[in-house]
Amino acid sequence: MLEGGVDDVVDADDTDLLLLALKRAELVIARQGGLFRKCRDLAIERDNLQSAIDNLPSPIFFKNRAGIYSGCNKAFEAFIGLPASKVNGASVYDVAPAELAKVYEAADEELMQQGGVQIYEADVCYADGERRTVTFHKAVTRDRVSGEVNGLAGSMLDITERKRLEEQLKWAAERDALTEAYNRRRFFELAAAAKERAQKTSASLSILVLDVDHFKLINDRYGHACGDAALNHLVGLLKRELQEPHIFARAGGEEFYCLLEGCDLNEAFEIAERIRKAVETVPHLHDQQLISMRVSIGAATVRDGEKISQTIARADEALYSAKQAGRNRVCVA
Ligand code: GH3
Ligand code: MG
Ligand code: MG
Repeated sequence: MLEGGVDDVVDADDTDLLLLALKRAELVIARQGGLFRKCRDLAIERDNLQSAIDNLPSPIFFKNRAGIYSGCNKAFEAFIGLPASKVNGASVYDVAPAELAKVYEAADEELMQQGGVQIYEADVCYADGERRTVTFHKAVTRDRVSGEVNGLAGSMLDITERKRLEEQLKWAAERDALTEAYNRRRFFELAAAAKERAQKTSASLSILVLDVDHFKLINDRYGHACGDAALNHLVGLLKRELQEPHIFARAGGEEFYCLLEGCDLNEAFEIAERIRKAVETVPHLHDQQLISMRVSIGAATVRDGEKISQTIARADEALYSAKQAGRNRVCVA
């Protein structure tokens, strides 16, 4: 094994020793050359990785085991509002409000103690004041040799747009496009949930089926657009008359369902009468013309062991009776 450096002092006449010294010097130079190339390659690799993450739109950051930032990309600089030179070496308390910093610190510590990956959704505020919803994806980093956790790498995926679209889709799936009232599908979901609550507390649950009288005449006399506006007018009145926990939905055409939680048949009748009178007394104003409307309503209370669709069918029969009896009235099943 040859040891030592290039500064050996040897007798110039001792050829053997001189050769040995030269051999040792050659080896050291070769070793240092290798080290130099390794350092240069590592620097190139690091620059490549940095430039790759700088070109990603998601903020990315690294922290050491003490929770001190050890690196980040350009998107993270924009999120925090500080250059990387200021982020590196800072703690979360230096870059976020104290309350938030506490939450982040606790989450980081939990991850570093448990190891693995941590994914969670959070509402964050960018340095420029913009609020976004993001998913944090964080994972611990480990020492190559000991395998000990030595920090974490995190990224923030902006899901604001996806959330907005999800909400839009949910709205569209639950609502009637013309009146924005709940649709029939949503009514059945809400009714099933209300029925479960009512069963647990032995509370009453009633349903109204409401249909506009001679609605076709409004369309025929004033046009379809006026009919549409009249339906919106009716929805406005229903909103006014039906407060939480009661809800209503457009079942289709000019027919509406109302779900009255905690109401027995008498109370359902009273509410139905109030709706009927409100429609009768508040005409719809269209193109400076007052258009009067009337509604007929059938009411039924959910019986033990009865399906919502069966209660609706009984309320529908009551509605039919109201129509037969001359319209603009409430009948109970
Ligand atoms: P009844 O008192 O027996 O209920 O008579 P009606 O005219 O209200 O009932 P009918 O079923 O004969 O007519 C309902 C009308 O409702 C026919 C249809 O064109 C109209 N209609 C259904 N949906 C809409 C809508 O979204 N907009 C408009 N403007 N009209 C609609
Ligand atoms: Mg009708
Ligand atoms: Mg109808």
